Amino acid sequence: MGRVAIYPGSFDPVTFGHLDLIKRATRIFDEVIVAVAQNTQKKTLFNNKERVAMLKEATKGMKGVKIEIFEGLVVNYAKKKNIHVIVRGLRMISDFEYELQMALTNRRLAEQIETVFLMPSEGYSFLSSTLIKEAAFLGADVTSFVPQFVADKIKKAKFK
Ligand code: ADP
Repeated sequence: MGRVAIYPGSFDPVTFGHLDLIKRATRIFDEVIVAVAQNTQKKTLFNNKERVAMLKEATKGMKGVKIEIFEGLVVNYAKKKNIHVIVRGLRMISDFEYELQMALTNRRLAEQIETVFLMPSEGYSFLSSTLIKEAAFLGADVTSFVPQFVADKIKKAKFK
């Protein structure tokens, strides 16, 4: 088995920032498992199946990428699969505090698992799923932030 990393998140929905990070991760790891959190604390716009389906569609053709869904603690899921690396994104300083806290908590929970941070291309460093949804709801064209089919889905979700 080659080097495997897990990239967990809520991905509600997937953005060009996430995709940029996945691409970067595939240059370092043989396999990148994008793990969609089933029981995220956040109230999601899209359900589990929809978030997974959008990621699958968006990463179609990317080698070494797998989309999975997980429940509970990331470290438990990683342990179960015998994976030792968690990948997370750092967009700005504002991400740092939360991410550091989480990485250290995870380290306490599972000493053998290392968290690795990747920075997206600066052009995507301001993107967040939350902001994109808000902008879309207010009528913005978000096709420069997410794939076209995701933008269409956000638009439709808005009128649900
Ligand atoms: P979570 O709810 O776990 O934060 P997200 O889907 O919002 O899930 O984000 C998952 C991971 O992707 C986080 O590490 C986050 O920092 C990172 N991320 C989100 N947006 C971007 C972006 N535009 N560029 C790089 N990383 C990002």
